Amino acid sequence: MFKIEHIGIAVKNLETSNELFSKLFGKPPYKSEQVESENVNTSFFQMGESKVELLYATSPDSAIAKYIEKKGEGIHHIAFAVENIEKEVERLKAEGFQAISEKPKRGADNKLVFFFHPKTTNGVLIELCQEIK
Ligand code: ZN
Repeated sequence: MFKIEHIGIAVKNLETSNELFSKLFGKPPYKSEQVESENVNTSFFQMGESKVELLYATSPDSAIAKYIEKKGEGIHHIAFAVENIEKEVERLKAEGFQAISEKPKRGADNKLVFFFHPKTTNGVLIELCQEIK
C-alpha cells in the first residue's frame, strides 16, 4: 500500500525558505540534512503522518539546480512510502513506468529511495521510499 510520505519542494535559498515554511506551519524543521550523493541540502517539516521536504541544490550539477533553472521553485516530487521497495520498483518497471536509476539508493531521512520519471507519470516525479531499519 502506498501512503504519502512527503512532498519535496525545490527552493533557491534554504535559509529564507526554512523561515518562510516555519512561519507557514508554525514550527521549525525537525531536521536538516545534506545528501552528498545528490548535491542537495534538505530540511524536513513533520505534518501529521506526512512531511514536507525542502530541497536546495549545493552544486549547479544537482538535479534540483536543473529543475529550478527550467521550472523555477515549486513542488518537485511526491514521495510514497512502501513496505517492500524492491518489489514495488520491479512491479512498476514491469507496468512500463520509466525508472530514473537502476536500484533503490540511500536518500535523506534514513530512507532507501527510488524515482520514476515524470514523463510516464503525468508530469509528476514519483519517489518511492522505504525506511532503513
Ligand atoms: Zn523526497
